Amino acid sequence: MTVTSEELHLKLKHFFGFEAFKGNQEGIIQSLLAGNDVFVLMPTGGGKSLCYQLPALFLEGTAIVISPLIALMKNQVDAIRGFTNGDESIAHFLNSSLNKAQIKEVKDDLVSGRTKLLYVAPESLTKEENVAFLKQLKISFYAIDEAHCISEWGHDFRPEYRRIRQIVEEIGRAPIIALTATATPKVQSDIQKNLGMPDAEVFKSSFNRPNLYYEIRDKSNPKRDIIRYIKENPGKSGIIYCLSRRKVEEIAELLNINGIKALPYHAGMDSATRSRNQDAFLMEEVDVIVATIAFGMGIDKPDVRFVIHYDIPKSLEGYYQETGRAGRDGQEGQCIAFYSYKDIQKLEKFMQGKPVSEQEIGRQLLGETRAYAESNQCRRLFLLNYFGEEFKQDNCGACDNCLHPKKKFDGKEEMALVLELIDSLKENFRPEHLANILLGETNSVVKSYNHHRHPLFGAGKDRTVRFWMAVIRQGILLQLLDKDIERYGLVRITEKGREFLADPHTLMLTEDREFVEGEDDYEEDAAVAAIKHAASCSGTGDDALLAMLKDLRKAESRRLNLPAWVLFGDPSLQDMTILYPTTIEELVRCQGVGEGKARKFGRPFVELIARYVEENEIVRPDDLVVRSAPTKTSARLMIIQGIDRKLPFEDIAEARDMTLDELLDNV
Ligand code: ADP
Ligand code: MG
Repeated sequence: MTVTSEELHLKLKHFFGFEAFKGNQEGIIQSLLAGNDVFVLMPTGGGKSLCYQLPALFLEGTAIVISPLIALMKNQVDAIRGFTNGDESIAHFLNSSLNKAQIKEVKDDLVSGRTKLLYVAPESLTKEENVAFLKQLKISFYAIDEAHCISEWGHDFRPEYRRIRQIVEEIGRAPIIALTATATPKVQSDIQKNLGMPDAEVFKSSFNRPNLYYEIRDKSNPKRDIIRYIKENPGKSGIIYCLSRRKVEEIAELLNINGIKALPYHAGMDSATRSRNQDAFLMEEVDVIVATIAFGMGIDKPDVRFVIHYDIPKSLEGYYQETGRAGRDGQEGQCIAFYSYKDIQKLEKFMQGKPVSEQEIGRQLLGETRAYAESNQCRRLFLLNYFGEEFKQDNCGACDNCLHPKKKFDGKEEMALVLELIDSLKENFRPEHLANILLGETNSVVKSYNHHRHPLFGAGKDRTVRFWMAVIRQGILLQLLDKDIERYGLVRITEKGREFLADPHTLMLTEDREFVEGEDDYEEDAAVAAIKHAASCSGTGDDALLAMLKDLRKAESRRLNLPAWVLFGDPSLQDMTILYPTTIEELVRCQGVGEGKARKFGRPFVELIARYVEENEIVRPDDLVVRSAPTKTSARLMIIQGIDRKLPFEDIAEARDMTLDELLDNV
């Protein structure tokens, strides 16, 4: 099927109320419509769902969406129904939570062809009776969300995901679109192999989330730190992740004792309480949820302002996914993790009962997390590199290490030594082993390879393991080394590394960070930096009106018993404070507001705005409301409003972060 870009934009506006596609969305949809298998790597919040929801809504037949968690299917289905004016039959889910009558209703809708999207858990998909039923339908395509679950090297491996390909064959082949927000190069290759789509068109967007701030703190007094942090950020929505259920309960209670409304969430709670707590968070009855990693997958609350890891996570994939839940609306998001080496040891101990291969994978993933936490390198660089992406900026400006750069040293000799060693060992060993050789450690592994007789054995014995690991790690970040995808963990020398080895040059490196107890001033600095970052990310608009709209949204979401963001997201509310729409027609011009939504939820909002406009004698920018490039025009509107309010030009310019000349160009 071919659809012009123009038509696709109309459909986007019609169903979702958006003016423009985000990132690669359009290309992805076009490729799927052209009948290709498609593989989408896009960070959390990038807008993956729309890549399958939009084509599903207008293609003939039903799209099968495979999604790992029952809890989140309902959310997604509710959201689609909200977008499409509440048509219940348009989207359904099929899982073990439905009773017989509900299943019948779903099946009837499916057979009648009214249902455009069917969400299924892999467990339900693989049931024989379901396969038999689905065979009779026309399937438009298959969407596999959270596709990293296919790989054992992903952070959330699910064996049933491995059977998807086979089931697709049984039901009837149609294009497959696989999507994930976290995949290292190794996981990517696993996914494509397992789904049997080596020729899929791959759309990889940058994993960089410039609005997220990353910080690792000493775990010397995490409870005090967390309480202080939340008190300094009142009214903001946040998630605190802990590894154990016991810790979740403890921290939630502690926060409540300290006057912070927080609820716990973990898999050990009964499901009614669990979903009640989740809803309370989504509906903004509480600001903070304290949870194990059982919470959050697919939870699409766009205005989570902080994610705190009380315990260091087991893998960087998990960490990235969890931190990715902050700032999905593109605004402020702070990601703070507490680190202590003791936690790493604890996690290693937990792994001991597991099968050897699983332990091996677990230990390596944990090693990466540790390296990340202890690194003095830009966190963003480190993370992006981990997911196979280059990052060229010297200073990202929004992580603890870039805001507080550490002293560097010339590591020319040391790097050359490492490269020489790797070269002499035919690139067949892991960083720990290399470090042990340089240190002159005669452990059993070193001996088993006879490496205690290697000419470079002990060549770096005046340093520490930590030092050599940091050098190797930076070799990878500087692209002198890279990791073998198929044999995970083995480091190879790149072309650039060979050049360096032939002719070494000055190379500035940092040592890893020592985690000591009570670095108080460090903490203070970081807090200040975080606050500044927050200020620079927050949008501008009419704050008084924004607060009123948010209250209204809260009240309406309770009345309708729907999560707040299903009504209108923060960017939409923000647009309302700039455009001051007072009719439903005008409301549609706000970002993220489609006709369906405007008609269904908009009335009380435009009424409130109309009253507000009248009471405050606001001159509405009504001749400007047809916007082409939203950001530029909204800048203009702000300027015009400023002029209306008789503010001096200089002040308006400053508020918009513009020079006077730029401002004058804009009016
Ligand atoms: P992901 O699954 O990639 O984490 P979602 O599909 O949940 O992300 O989308 C994240 C947010 O982005 C949602 O609030 C969604 O409504 C919004 N969004 C998606 N596409 C667009 C678009 N083209 N324009 C504006 N907002 C969008
Ligand atoms: Mg998603």
